Amino acid sequence: MEGKTKIVEDFGDYVILNFKDDITAGDGEKHNVLEGKGAICAEITAISMKYLNSRGIYTQFLDFITPNKIKAVSLKMLPLEVVVRLKKAGSFIRRYGGNEGEEFKEPLVEFFIKDDERHDPMVCKNHLVLFEICNEKQAEEIEKSAKKTAIELKNFFEKLGFDLWDMKFEYGIDNEGKVCLGDEISPDTLRLRKKDGIFDKDVYRKYLGDPLEKYREVLSACRSLNLL
Ligand code: 5GP
Repeated sequence: MEGKTKIVEDFGDYVILNFKDDITAGDGEKHNVLEGKGAICAEITAISMKYLNSRGIYTQFLDFITPNKIKAVSLKMLPLEVVVRLKKAGSFIRRYGGNEGEEFKEPLVEFFIKDDERHDPMVCKNHLVLFEICNEKQAEEIEKSAKKTAIELKNFFEKLGFDLWDMKFEYGIDNEGKVCLGDEISPDTLRLRKKDGIFDKDVYRKYLGDPLEKYREVLSACRSLNLL
């Protein structure tokens, strides 16, 4: 199965996620190929998910296969994007106003259904059940787990000198019916900031220079933890 940024090979008991060099924005309207991007995002995903596993959060990560693949738990992925915001940015400000970087008192969780034609409409937990994306218990579990994961990731990146503003998670259901954090955790799916810079996909979205230069800095900080 091939998506915009990954090829998924199914081996029954497990899957191999093959991270591509493609980068897209605006529901796939903007598209480029940046050589080496797949390897960078695969390794950052591997390191951060391994860290989350060690903190008791169930992620899809099993093993990193250099340079750009991850062996992962086989999941039935939900057609859902779960955004957790710690500071205001992006589509939150476009919808509701406010200033970039203003902090929320507690993590804000938003659900979006994956649907490029409808530009990923925002929904609430009732819609998830109505559209049979997951059941009520799973929706509650996803919300709770997303908040906890956001705090763990904030602490993880804080140690590396980055401020985590917001992030997008994707969840799947494993063979036993358990909710599991899947897909990717990388500068493609996070807003990572420092006082003097942007280290995430906004560099690409807003034409702010070479995204990979920034992505590489995130990777080298992650590598300094020697987790893999
Ligand atoms: P926003 O809703 O403000 O555009 O995005 C919130 C966070 O979720 C950002 O970190 C952004 O990178 C991530 N995000 C939202 N939608 C997508 C998406 O379709 N693809 C990717 N890679 N990240 C997304």
